[in-house]
Amino acid sequence: MERVPVVFLDRDGVINEQAPPHQYITRWEDFRYLPGVYEAIRKLNDAGYRGVIVSNQRCIARGLLTAEGMEALNRRLLEDIEAHGGKIEAVYYCPHDVSDNCSCRKPKTGMLEQAAKDLEEQGLKIHKKASWIVGDFRSDIQTGMNYGINTVHILSGGIDTSDSGEAVNAGTEPSDSAEMENVRTEPSVGAKPVNVGTEPSDSAEPVNRGTGSSDGTDTLLHLEAGSLLEAVDKILEVRE
Ligand SMILES: [Mg+2]
Ligand SMILES: [Zn+2]
Repeated sequence: MERVPVVFLDRDGVINEQAPPHQYITRWEDFRYLPGVYEAIRKLNDAGYRGVIVSNQRCIARGLLTAEGMEALNRRLLEDIEAHGGKIEAVYYCPHDVSDNCSCRKPKTGMLEQAAKDLEEQGLKIHKKASWIVGDFRSDIQTGMNYGINTVHILSGGIDTSDSGEAVNAGTEPSDSAEMENVRTEPSVGAKPVNVGTEPSDSAEPVNRGTGSSDGTDTLLHLEAGSLLEAVDKILEVRE
């Protein structure tokens, strides 16, 4: 089976602006792209990566949007990206609430596993060591670690801090207390960002995942970026 590198993309806060606190994006009219997204996806595709969106959407469990409504919105998103020269294979979303304890809500890996199954039907196998997840919540990063792929943490959450250099984090607070916990939870040792091409400065702080196993997970990278385009540039930079 042909192995392909995949970049899993979180949606809100990576592709589009996060909704204001306690609100959700339920209509295409409210969907606001973050800068550079079309270009970032085109670059990924040109470099041979498959793009797949994986998104927690508890707004469905809360009755704010139907599954059909979510699918219509996501279909428009994919069509629009395609009209701008990019391609996303599919959008997977978790419609459940935390209390549902499903197997798809990030940081669980159900959506990535489903994507792997769907790619397998096309004769493709995910090349995990060459694959990534890009997200703005700690739970996205944890998802990547749980699945055994590289991660890029988008720090800005879609808020432009370039003019004043001042962090405007108030606007990036997720409206979702469970996810806030995830954001604020210190990563386990393995999530410590590794600067590309830089040896860990302190050998007392292991940067591997502590497994010591031969499955390659000890060589996974955990990077940080300010935007999807910057994330893509970093991914392409560290590619072998
Ligand atoms: Mg997000
Ligand atoms: Zn779910």
